[in-house]
Amino acid sequence: MMDPERLDPPAPTVPDRPRTFRYDGEVRPGETRHLRYEVGETYHGAAVEVPVTIVNGARPGPRLFVSAAIHGDELNGVKVAQEVAARYDPDDLAGTLVVVHVANVPGFQAQQRYLPISDQDLNRAFPGRESGTTASRMAHALWEAFYSRCDLGLDLHTSTRNRTTMYHVRADLSSPDVGRLVWAFGANVALNGAGDEGSLRKAATEAGIPTVTVEMGKAHRFQPVLIAKAVAGIDNVLRTYGMVDGEVTAPDWFLSTGEPGDKAWLRADTGGLVDMQWGPYPFVHTGETICTVTDHFRKEERVVEAPFTGLLVGVLENPVALPGHPLCHLVRVDEETAEEIEREIATGEFDGYRANGTVWRAPEQT
Ligand SMILES: [Zn+2]
Repeated sequence: MMDPERLDPPAPTVPDRPRTFRYDGEVRPGETRHLRYEVGETYHGAAVEVPVTIVNGARPGPRLFVSAAIHGDELNGVKVAQEVAARYDPDDLAGTLVVVHVANVPGFQAQQRYLPISDQDLNRAFPGRESGTTASRMAHALWEAFYSRCDLGLDLHTSTRNRTTMYHVRADLSSPDVGRLVWAFGANVALNGAGDEGSLRKAATEAGIPTVTVEMGKAHRFQPVLIAKAVAGIDNVLRTYGMVDGEVTAPDWFLSTGEPGDKAWLRADTGGLVDMQWGPYPFVHTGETICTVTDHFRKEERVVEAPFTGLLVGVLENPVALPGHPLCHLVRVDEETAEEIEREIATGEFDGYRANGTVWRAPEQT
């Protein structure tokens, strides 16, 4: 596991004077620009435009991108982007904040994950090519104008439809620079891995721009507790890298995966109706029933138990399954962390992870 205490002071190094941010246009230090950037055309020949905010600080510092809705129906991040874009005054900022509000505009308009018509995954198309597929061209346009001009990145996602995910990050912790960013963002759980080929996270990290994927809740919703957590996490990133003033906070507990057996996908062995039994917290002990899978006549019931004590980072919501269907994604929790989680549950501090049924939401809404 990563030991954040040992991480050096934050990289990256930055010039000692504030920089003008140049894409096709330019944003001077001390200026905020809201713009719509053309990345393609519709059948009608009308421009497909991505909303972007650039807050260019009056003082020198790193450039951070915050990107949302690369999957068009993953909306929590869109709300986070809106909040973050309005939150900082360039006079109070050291460095540059680049907010790509909706990376996948055609998917957003259709409220679907992939690019409509071509059904391509924009998050498998990075860094993209000027003469490539539709997805590749869009990725290329955004990459050239915005992402590649940054020093650090956060890519905001939710679970895919019919599933939900606990608030966590995904990152390549073999890179200390990525580890710093994970720690600065302050999530409790990090799934370690290089990421899929063509994902923004992998392409950017390989290009020397440490980038972390944030996974939060479900598609097609605004979930206020998760949105508030992510806005606070981004604020802590800005503090950690000296982009804004303020005290840096660290999570009370932290879990990362990387060793074999750190996590497991629990899959259905039979087709049937799925009753989730866990909750209200996504924390289960060895042998605890997570769900049952039954046939229509209740003649057959399969009980799915936790093979080890852990956190349910992802669960099925649409309550039917086929053999092999993933029911949930479980991350192992060591004894010490389990005690800390139990303490937080007892004091109410864990309520940001509380769930009603299988929907993560605010305690006051349950
Ligand atoms: Zn996504």
